[in-house]
Amino acid sequence: MSAVRISDVHADKIPLGLCTFRGWVRTHRQSKTVTFIELYDGSCVKGLQLVIDPTLESYAAVAPRVATGASLMVQGELAPSPAKGQRYELRVQEFKLIGESPAEEYPLQKKGHTLEFLREILHLRPRSNTFGAVFRVRSAASMAIHTFFHQRGFVYVHTPIITTSDCEGAGAMFRVTTLDMEKPPRIDGKIDYKQDFFAGEAKLTVSGQLEGEIFATAVGNIYTFGPTFRAENSNTTRHLSEFWMIEPEMAFYDLHDNMALAEDFIKFLIQYVLDHCADDLEFLFAREWADKSMLETLRQVSTAPFATLDYTEAIKVLEKSGKSFEFPVKWGMDLQSEHERFLTDEYVKGPLFVVNYPKEIKAFYMRVNEDGKTVRAMDMLVPRLGEIIGGSQREERHDVLVERIKECKLPVEHYWWYLDLRRFGSVPHAGFGLGFERFLMYVTGMQNIRDVIPFPRYPGYAAF
Ligand code: ATP
Ligand code: MG
Repeated sequence: MSAVRISDVHADKIPLGLCTFRGWVRTHRQSKTVTFIELYDGSCVKGLQLVIDPTLESYAAVAPRVATGASLMVQGELAPSPAKGQRYELRVQEFKLIGESPAEEYPLQKKGHTLEFLREILHLRPRSNTFGAVFRVRSAASMAIHTFFHQRGFVYVHTPIITTSDCEGAGAMFRVTTLDMEKPPRIDGKIDYKQDFFAGEAKLTVSGQLEGEIFATAVGNIYTFGPTFRAENSNTTRHLSEFWMIEPEMAFYDLHDNMALAEDFIKFLIQYVLDHCADDLEFLFAREWADKSMLETLRQVSTAPFATLDYTEAIKVLEKSGKSFEFPVKWGMDLQSEHERFLTDEYVKGPLFVVNYPKEIKAFYMRVNEDGKTVRAMDMLVPRLGEIIGGSQREERHDVLVERIKECKLPVEHYWWYLDLRRFGSVPHAGFGLGFERFLMYVTGMQNIRDVIPFPRYPGYAAF
């Protein structure tokens, strides 16, 4: 008999009667007359109550070896449970211990371990309720991303992870080399990367955007969804050295089309996760977070219209707020978290876009506005978190782009292929980037980015 997933039981997809389950012991209680085991199999946050008569031959033989974390196969009668707190129970008829889990050694004994402790046992933390929930949400959100773009006819493009183009300038890059670090080949005193594996300096990508533009100006609307790397020494709760990014890029889109898509996208993702992971979210919010209004704020973002504020206007609002910010407000500065939080949580009381930033604080590829001072950038800010998406309309005018590259003191010759896109059938186009883990922090309420990626990498740490 093939085994049933516990999630299907709780979703009423399984007829009552004889069933087989496989999973792990979460808790167990034994008395003289009956043994209760809570079995879980990772399919949902809920377990299944096993009811075992201790005289059952197949159980009695292994009873002393049943412990938290042990793996089992059980067969029995799935029936309505007379007990409170659960709808079903399994009255066990056949019992098989598959793998033991010595109680004195298994680290996940108690409930309620701290997230910090669980971070030290990355190989076991997915077995905890909290991380089971987080990673099921992560999986569902990945599907949501693909679903959203496929419904709209976007082409999924795999931009390279190893790159020899140092164009984006989004952050410090990791080097990829097979040179002998003890004695690298040298030429004129410098390391000779011509002799390296790729016959040049290779790095791990910090963004797929520029390559994404190649495809947008070829097949129309595209998106990337893959790993990106930043070799920044930023030990924060919002930064990882390896993270996943979603970067759509659309031909013939202006800034407003771009914002409309970003708004639909975020709403769709939140709604998808609310629809598909309700139990996991409820569990996370109840167990991990004191703030009981989290589900409400998510529902609000998934339905409320987004406000738009010009950067220049936002600065005026902040100046007039009467607040004393740690970073003083001045036209030309980048908005800090405290400013973003004021705008979302107190001023707009909801999600908003800030648009048309000063060109000095934005990337070279953003389209210059008629005022010559600002660029067609947009940041989406959401309550509780601040910036979640950054995007722009791209500069499609060849000569203006060359000027901007020079202004930013970047080597124009590196951008020959990027400039070619503006020489041959150039079109207005736009796109944005969403850091996948930042989104997951937002929907799960997890406060540390290291807790929403299975194997976090950050300065000083890359275990497994
Ligand atoms: P921040 O100011 O937070 O460092 P950034 O301006 O460097 O972000 P971008 O270069 O615009 O970010 O990258 C696009 C998106 O990728 C960001 O909006 C964010 O969601 C995410 N992101 C950027 N850096 C990291 C990182 N080190 N770890 C995880 N996500 C990141
Ligand atoms: Mg950064």
